[in-house]
Amino acid sequence: MRALVLTADRRLELAERDRPQPKAPRDVLVRVVQTGICGTDRSVLVGKFAAEPGVIMGHEAVGEVAEIGPDVTDLAIGDRVIVNPTLYCGRCIRCLRGQTNFCHRKTGNEIGIDRDGSYAEYILLEDRFLHRIPDGVSYDRAVLTEPLACVLNNLDSAGLTPGEPVTVIGAGPIGLVCAVAARHLGSPVTLIERDDFRRDQARELMKEFFPSDVTVVGADPADRPDRAPTVVDTVGNQLDTALDLADDVGTVVAMGYDSRAEATVRPLEILQRQLRIVGAGDYRGPHFPRAVEMAARLPLERLVTHRFPLERHEEAFAALAASNGSGYSALKVVLQSAEDAQ
Ligand SMILES: [Zn+2]
Ligand SMILES: [Zn+2]
Repeated sequence: MRALVLTADRRLELAERDRPQPKAPRDVLVRVVQTGICGTDRSVLVGKFAAEPGVIMGHEAVGEVAEIGPDVTDLAIGDRVIVNPTLYCGRCIRCLRGQTNFCHRKTGNEIGIDRDGSYAEYILLEDRFLHRIPDGVSYDRAVLTEPLACVLNNLDSAGLTPGEPVTVIGAGPIGLVCAVAARHLGSPVTLIERDDFRRDQARELMKEFFPSDVTVVGADPADRPDRAPTVVDTVGNQLDTALDLADDVGTVVAMGYDSRAEATVRPLEILQRQLRIVGAGDYRGPHFPRAVEMAARLPLERLVTHRFPLERHEEAFAALAASNGSGYSALKVVLQSAEDAQ
């Protein structure tokens, strides 16, 4: 099969690999239709996040069941499925505490990082990490389930009280999914984005999703929103701003990935304003089925702006980057392993 493999000098290379074969009784072979490019994938290629050379990358995947092991009863050949890429053992102390995203047996089990992922024609997984796509939900919508699961975990960790205002910093794909989810849960949302393209896209999308209670503003101090009880930094280097935008007794969530970001916090301010700074990782086991269900009710497919076949991966990654001078021109970019209807 064709697959995009990570080289030692951090490039992706289209290679020929053996198609995996179901070995364990609960293995399922999935014919991949498409995979969303995640911020972490870009981080790997620019050296901000470590991954194993030789691995097939990609984790935000959807596809169709192609083969099943003898003990698989909940899935049948031909079922459309979403990959739940945060594998866990279910037996270690972290898993038993429900902290499945920090499973002690993660090494060698991180899809697209140190275990073969979905930028390929096929991927092999245990059946418990596959969820059937609800009827009527397109592959384009389903491909945003994993980012939605991450967002749900982060909003949960903030202790978000539905109905209370949320400020989201950054209107990239994660920021938009975060804004949509928080608004869906009943909170008025302010979305802050400094890039003109992303701000315009966000305004257009949000008008369509929710006619009221979503405000999209730029980074201009004049547009600064009122302090909110929950502030989510989906950029990853905006902690100072986020703390400034949080109400007293508020919570700031550090959600964006930026391994180079540093911030100075003043402990006395944290104490006197009773602020909480929360990190939540990706998502826990139960968030994934919740995200599958919620995605069925949200037109997340509108976030997919670009699609490329595997062999055009360089263009796909280039589309994600902000070009000098003209800013961003894409939201979610997907790599297609097959040409099924989206
Ligand atoms: Zn991801
Ligand atoms: Zn575990």
